[in-house]
Amino acid sequence: MGLAALGRRLARWRDERALRRHAIPGPLWDAVVAAYPFIARRGVDDRADLRRLCSLFLARKEFHGAQGLTVTDEMAVAIAAQACLPILRLGIDAYDGFVGIVVHPDEVVAPRETMDEDGVVHAYDETLTGEAMDGGPVMLAWADVLAAGDTAEMAYNVVIHEFAHVLDMADGVADGVPLLPTAAARDAWIACLDVEYERFAARVEADDEATLLDPYGAEGPEEFFAVAAEAFFVAPQGLRGEHPALYGLLASYFRQDPAAR
Ligand SMILES: [Zn+2]
Repeated sequence: MGLAALGRRLARWRDERALRRHAIPGPLWDAVVAAYPFIARRGVDDRADLRRLCSLFLARKEFHGAQGLTVTDEMAVAIAAQACLPILRLGIDAYDGFVGIVVHPDEVVAPRETMDEDGVVHAYDETLTGEAMDGGPVMLAWADVLAAGDTAEMAYNVVIHEFAHVLDMADGVADGVPLLPTAAARDAWIACLDVEYERFAARVEADDEATLLDPYGAEGPEEFFAVAAEAFFVAPQGLRGEHPALYGLLASYFRQDPAAR
């Protein structure tokens, strides 16, 4: 047996073991599916693939509760299910760049500093519901994760937002451009995303309050990609109606067509 074949066999063996050790009990899985309409309305095959992917996710990632929070199995599966939706057709290896997930009970106030043109440092507080850093860990506010069933209509989902950043950073840069198979695909991606981003930023600038996407997406192309990914998975028909080209771009990247269901 060649080395490549041996590697594949070892990887398969590791996955099979992970699936056995981290099998998600039926009642727990059903409760998570029921809590999130954007998972519940998926087809039987998608839900079965998602459940399997969640076991691999639980085997490979480490959850840490912050500020005295204990991360229960229910919480871990709820996070895993939403985190694995974007990689349903990309595979678990797409998340190899990090291991840790830090769960806070609620929003976190982070002290920040910025320097103005005159070199004067200004201190301010930023309120975070989640954060993803290159190489991990991913930080999430549990209150927002829990509310994701109710906030789906508003195209809001903190888990998908942060894991879109993880996919974006797979090439080392948070710029709204994930790893793509060819240079041509990359060029096409940038061409489409730039047009959509500029148009969206102009709407936000003009105080258009009717945007489906979170105005926070106007902060930069990387945030635009993350908020677009949220809408793609939790409010897909809205995104397809308002941004058809962007929807098509995401559908080809994620290899999913959630609005079709
Ligand atoms: Zn973000």
